[in-house]
Amino acid sequence: MGIITHEDILLAGVVGAGGGGFPAHVKLSAHADIVIINAAECEPLLHKDKEILRHFSDEVLAGLATAMELTGASRAIIAVKEKYSDVIALLRDKLSANMSIAPLADVYPAGDEMILVYNVLGRVVPPGGLPLDVGAVVMNVETAFNVALSQDGPVTEKFLTVAGAVAEPVTLRVPLGISLGECVTAAGGPTVTDANYIVGGVMMGQLEDDLDAPVDKTTAGIIVLPSDHVVIRRQRRDWKQISRIARSACDQCNFCTELCPRYLLGHPVQPHLAMRSMGFNLLGEAAVLGASFCSECNLCSMYSCPEGLDPKAVYARKKAELAEKDEKWTDPSFNPRRPVLHLSDRQAPMARLMNRLNLTGFTNIGPLTKTTIATGKVRIKLKQHVGVACNPVVSIGQTVRVGDPVGDVPQSNGKPSLGAPVHASIAGRVTAVENDTVRIEKE
Ligand code: SF4
Ligand code: SF4
Repeated sequence: MGIITHEDILLAGVVGAGGGGFPAHVKLSAHADIVIINAAECEPLLHKDKEILRHFSDEVLAGLATAMELTGASRAIIAVKEKYSDVIALLRDKLSANMSIAPLADVYPAGDEMILVYNVLGRVVPPGGLPLDVGAVVMNVETAFNVALSQDGPVTEKFLTVAGAVAEPVTLRVPLGISLGECVTAAGGPTVTDANYIVGGVMMGQLEDDLDAPVDKTTAGIIVLPSDHVVIRRQRRDWKQISRIARSACDQCNFCTELCPRYLLGHPVQPHLAMRSMGFNLLGEAAVLGASFCSECNLCSMYSCPEGLDPKAVYARKKAELAEKDEKWTDPSFNPRRPVLHLSDRQAPMARLMNRLNLTGFTNIGPLTKTTIATGKVRIKLKQHVGVACNPVVSIGQTVRVGDPVGDVPQSNGKPSLGAPVHASIAGRVTAVENDTVRIEKE
């Protein structure tokens, strides 16, 4: 094996595995002075990043070294919560001279890229900007693992934690395209009769009622909760309820803004203004355009608001409307110095957040099952990443082996569009090529 190249990473279909799905070959084409591995994993009950570090630290460090090489970075930092002392001790023994560890406080949202960059480097990414604007490239743990293995073959597997109301909370290694239901079964199944499923974490994940939905390259976890759980009740509120309660109950106490991590960084994110605009049915520029810079971390709704309102949902809706109209705040006001002073005091301690979310009764570990879970069929999504969907490159009846391409990135002006190819995760026969997925079944 030679030195890993951008081309290797593109062909392997490596994308950000921490939720974003940004194609790694593009991210690593930038020049940076530092690479940060984001191992903060601050969503309650998720453990896959720590488990990957515990079991595959050599691969993660190799991926990190490759990222440094490709971006020209002279140093690297692994940001991991201080409380995971075993992980820190394990890594310390293996670090190269230009790598170090940044121990993080046990707070939410420690893993938000902009908060992470500030906490680790003391640099403030401007509103709407990227860590690269301040010289940093941030990579998820699993992305680094996949980069390290990119010459061995494409990404066909995923690590994810299954937790909450399941018999055995666990971190699984699964073939991409396996159903959510099979993952829950592998965790011993639900322990409640009225199970609800959140894909991702309880703070930023989405409810999924279709247990046949496939796992993709960004699926970090599945959290199972009963119908009467506060998180589920909040998630099931529709816009009519959210807007009616917002109009009638917001007393403009301002807590949502005062505890908003992006506001504390100096970004023009002020959710209380969006809530005020609901009350008066007026949408001023600051109230609406600030929505573009909201990370949707959900802290304002799930933690800060004493009235149980949902300013994040209001901002998310405004953000989607702005994106649809392609409206941007091109020159937002930005004063990073004053508010950052408060950031360290105002992040949400994890214990308090878990308590607020009524999660303290669930087992908060997710030991890794190293053997890949077997399945007889998969649905490979043609878009598992930021950018454009792949075009299918297989047809019904075709036999495929693990790692064969099933979708490729379309060309635009003679160059590949932003995206990443997708591959067969089991050997078998293609049984359907649909708009958004390719089905493969074992023979
Ligand atoms: S914290 Fe709640 S009540 Fe206070 S301003 Fe924000 S949305 Fe309104
Ligand atoms: S979801 Fe709320 S707390 Fe998080 S960035 Fe948006 S406005 Fe701020």
